[in-house]
Amino acid sequence: MNLARRFAGCLVGGLLGDAIGAPVEAESRGYIRKAFRSVDDILALEKVEEMFGAYWTVGRYTDDTQMTECVARWLLHDGASDGCKLLARFSEAFRPARRYGSGTALILQAFEDHRDEWRSLATLMFPDGSYGNGSAMRSGPIGCRFYNDPPALFAACRLSSLTTHSHPLAIQGATLMAAAVAALVRSQTPLDIDRFLQGLELVLKRLARTGPEPTQYRQALEHISDGLKAAHEPARLADLLGTGIDAKESVPMALYCFLSSPQAFEPVIEQAVFLGGDTDTIASMAGSFSGALLGETALPQRWLARLCDEDITPASMGLIAHQLAELCGQGKSSG
Ligand SMILES: [Mg+2]
Repeated sequence: MNLARRFAGCLVGGLLGDAIGAPVEAESRGYIRKAFRSVDDILALEKVEEMFGAYWTVGRYTDDTQMTECVARWLLHDGASDGCKLLARFSEAFRPARRYGSGTALILQAFEDHRDEWRSLATLMFPDGSYGNGSAMRSGPIGCRFYNDPPALFAACRLSSLTTHSHPLAIQGATLMAAAVAALVRSQTPLDIDRFLQGLELVLKRLARTGPEPTQYRQALEHISDGLKAAHEPARLADLLGTGIDAKESVPMALYCFLSSPQAFEPVIEQAVFLGGDTDTIASMAGSFSGALLGETALPQRWLARLCDEDITPASMGLIAHQLAELCGQGKSSG
């Protein structure tokens, strides 16, 4: 398969998962299951009520997609070696209405006046750095750009994380996310799941050489492996892995949603959205995995047609994907 189509599958798949999960973000599993039967039910709505009487238009993307796009442009135009340049891109693109986390919003608002001290901004709200999933959710493009260059992938994930999410659990989650994408754009279909999981274990081994032991992620991979062997539905794993905003919960949960249905995009998103919790980010990461393996043609047209933003679109993300593939020297050849 053409590598650029895999990259586009990853980036547009992430956008789609984000926009589909957004209307039910932070809702409980019980509520979502009671209110909707399927993703199409959610997408049939025009808008949903937010706090303080505001409305969310169904089909819009959130901070996940905005920051992913910034990372992709940083990889394309800034060489991925300067964290300050990435933070500048995040800060310029920052729009509170996209539902940024409070810690990230604080950093992005402070950046303009504290450009020279950008390294210290990541601990503004959390003294040990945030371990939320904010850096994992935007790591898909890093997995694409460095799909065949592990040292560069690890370095870029670390640097991207350090700008906003400097806790080791966030760096580990971001690296696992990008490394999974990298493995998937390289994979044959159908996916060899055992081999894929062995590759992720090697990623954790490598992380342990340069930082704290990724114990939580190791445990999560064991749960994933056991759950797949028992053919458990993602909802059954949700209590074990978690569906919250911590990277250590949502990255493994997104992996499980994908690995439960590696052959098709739609069931991955259906499962992710109906788990409740951080639905936009879990569905975005799961959609990135599925798209990276299956390519952009696996994404359903009727869902793509519901995306309503004009600045970041499937076409604009597709173009970025092609540019990333060209940067990898594989824009037009088969991957
Ligand atoms: Mg979000």
